[in-house]
Amino acid sequence: MSASGTSSFFKQVNIMFDRAAVHTPHPTGLLNQIKSCNSVYQVGFPIVRDSGKIEVIRAFRAEHSHHKQPTKGGIRYAAVVNADEVMALAALMTYKCAIVDVPFGGAKGGIAINRHDYSEKELERITRRYTFELARKNFIGPGVDVPAPDYGTGAQEMTWILDTYTSVTDNPLDALACVTGKPVGHGGVRGRVEATGRGVFFGIREACDIEEDMKALGLSKGLKGKRIVVQGLGNVGYHAAKFVEESGAIITGLAEYEGAIYNPDGLKLEDVMVHRLGTGTILDFPGAHNLTRSADALDLPCDILIPAALEGQIRSDNADRVQAKIVAEAANGPITASADKLLSDRGVMIIPDMYLNAGGVTVSYFEWLRNLSHVRLGRMSRRFEAHNARRILQSVEALVDQRLGSPSAMPSQIMPDLAFGASEEDLVNSGLEDTMVGAYQEIRDSARRHKTDLRTGAFVSSIDKIAKGYKQLGIFP
Ligand code: GLU
Repeated sequence: MSASGTSSFFKQVNIMFDRAAVHTPHPTGLLNQIKSCNSVYQVGFPIVRDSGKIEVIRAFRAEHSHHKQPTKGGIRYAAVVNADEVMALAALMTYKCAIVDVPFGGAKGGIAINRHDYSEKELERITRRYTFELARKNFIGPGVDVPAPDYGTGAQEMTWILDTYTSVTDNPLDALACVTGKPVGHGGVRGRVEATGRGVFFGIREACDIEEDMKALGLSKGLKGKRIVVQGLGNVGYHAAKFVEESGAIITGLAEYEGAIYNPDGLKLEDVMVHRLGTGTILDFPGAHNLTRSADALDLPCDILIPAALEGQIRSDNADRVQAKIVAEAANGPITASADKLLSDRGVMIIPDMYLNAGGVTVSYFEWLRNLSHVRLGRMSRRFEAHNARRILQSVEALVDQRLGSPSAMPSQIMPDLAFGASEEDLVNSGLEDTMVGAYQEIRDSARRHKTDLRTGAFVSSIDKIAKGYKQLGIFP
């Protein structure tokens, strides 16, 4: 059994692919090539624990599609990691990159460890050895395969990967681009940490802004006042919750390993985080009800449910209990193929993972571009833009003076407010917003054209783009 609760997560992804493929004109051979996983590397290597004992670590990297290169996708550290899981997640990366027009094939890696069972030094040894094994087999490199953070990993692991890769490559000039999600001081971009959660927010906001679609669900337009339950307070879940709360939604339920909390009047996210830091648990938060079984949070009454933990959370055995009108898939694969059908048949709107959590890889793309161009985004244009805006404002001021025949007093704050050049973070965030807004329209249009749901619409749009990519390679007629 995999974490998805059925025999194969990869099969689940392919069932959903097949549901969409019937809406496309592509020949079976091409569709089979698109959905198959091109390469899977599985390795076992020994590490010496701090205790002196030797332990064999099992690690994986799957490259799903090479229709574009490099391949791209995160590396997760979790006890349940296996070959099937990384293949499924790599496939989702392929479809995700296509939807947001990021020119990568999909990949995913994982190490089968629970990171809390290892010391910092042990994690460093494991990460470095894993990177070395990938490099030996040509499974990492700026133009080959570019890892990033995922469940259980973050900027620290990316720095170890970068350092190890740099020490073995014969192309040190571009080595910075061998991995994304690095700290800002090591070639990372500002805004990458929040990117996936911010993208989730943009996606939900877009969905809620379409009055016709909200009306069909019996909801009002806009995010303001919507009741939201979030499962998982990791990087993605936390930031998604933070941004939706900032835009006026009400967080009514939060779930973590230790259990879940619920308050129909709303939970203040930052207060919950402070409470968890102090007590080690979200439970017993003042004013909230405790749910000792964390998974029960999925059944709470709400408008929008955001699963932001692992795959296979909503299955055929619990899908009927979901009360949300919208399920926003911040995690990869949180709904199994059978549950997807049950929910869609009931008219629940599912904003699919391959679109909704694409903000991370979108900003990874910006980071990769920055590393290859060896220049900070906006470095050459920022001052120029600021001067330009200043010149325009001064001309307006002069024209107004001329009209009035006397000097007008421009409020002193206007100039600094309007005459600034975009910083790297501004560029990253606006590039991310533009991508998420455009891609939502695209998957919605596709769904409407084919009279189907958003996931199938997203798959169709993605399959068409990948098919085009293969045709450009001249492999298929
Ligand atoms: N792990 C993230 C994802 O599943 C980011 C991947 C990346 O940036 O390459 O989308």
